[in-house]
Amino acid sequence: EEVHLLPYFEMMIEKVSPALQENRMILHLECPDDLYAQIDPVRFEQVILNLIDNARKYSEPNTSIFIDVALINERIHMTLKDEGKGIPEEDLPRIFERFYRVDKSRARALGGTGLGLSIVKQLVEAHGGMIEVTSSPNIGTTFEIIL
Ligand code: ATP
Ligand code: MG
Repeated sequence: EEVHLLPYFEMMIEKVSPALQENRMILHLECPDDLYAQIDPVRFEQVILNLIDNARKYSEPNTSIFIDVALINERIHMTLKDEGKGIPEEDLPRIFERFYRVDKSRARALGGTGLGLSIVKQLVEAHGGMIEVTSSPNIGTTFEIIL
């Protein structure tokens, strides 16, 4: 299905805004109005909501989340950047594994199963895309999806 990305992202941001407000976090969206993507809107929503949920859970109040959508060399790039705790370099290769969590005690306190990112990766790949992560502890984390 051909999805108009700007209203699609605005709709998802509307859904998460109560949770973000509770954490006093602000989400900034940068998305040109003329971008469309061939995606399953219901399944792909799980991708974006999982990434936003992580950005919220693993960040402090009064930080921001930045979502940037752009067309580069005929491909849609979606980057989702937070200013949170970050992920240690040695854990980065494993975060897309099922049940993998970086800090077991912190992760337990925050709830969840450790399945979010494994589902995200599966869904992105089911769309013929790929996802990459870069992160620096205490600076933040960036996920990039390329479709
Ligand atoms: P679930 O998503 O099932 O509720 P979860 O959030 O712990 O649980 P994943 O979403 O798969 O599981 O993430 C795996 C681990 O990667 C997390 O436990 C956390 O340690 C780390 N992580 C994921 N996203 C971020 C992020 N934006 N900033 C810092 N750490 C992150
Ligand atoms: Mg998660």
